Amino acid sequence: MSEDAKLAYLQEKIREAKRNERTGLITMFLGGLSIVLGISFNIIWNNSFTFFGVVSLIILGVFMFILGIYASGHYNGQYRDLMGEFEKLAIKVPICSNCKKELPKGNFEFCPFCGKSLKSNE
Ligand SMILES: [Zn+2]
Repeated sequence: MSEDAKLAYLQEKIREAKRNERTGLITMFLGGLSIVLGISFNIIWNNSFTFFGVVSLIILGVFMFILGIYASGHYNGQYRDLMGEFEKLAIKVPICSNCKKELPKGNFEFCPFCGKSLKSNE
């Protein structure tokens, strides 16, 4: 894979991880909402007829909430890993056109390894 193709691939992966993280957060939010609604309904209609529905709403809410926390955490970690990889690739290290060695930081007129002039007009 060429470097540009790898960068494009990583960018796509990063977008995907971010999207999945957001989906996880929405699931968590909806789960929380189900819990609150379930508890509210339980207080308003405190009779055995609605009890089962309310309990399943709360159980569903807890389940979604935990799943959402887990998913958003998981994809957030993935996102960070991918970003680190992407940054490593995206930051290009200058290389001497003659000996192909990585040039140290600083402004050199000549390559410190082989002595070739590094001025772009030569
Ligand atoms: Zn050199």
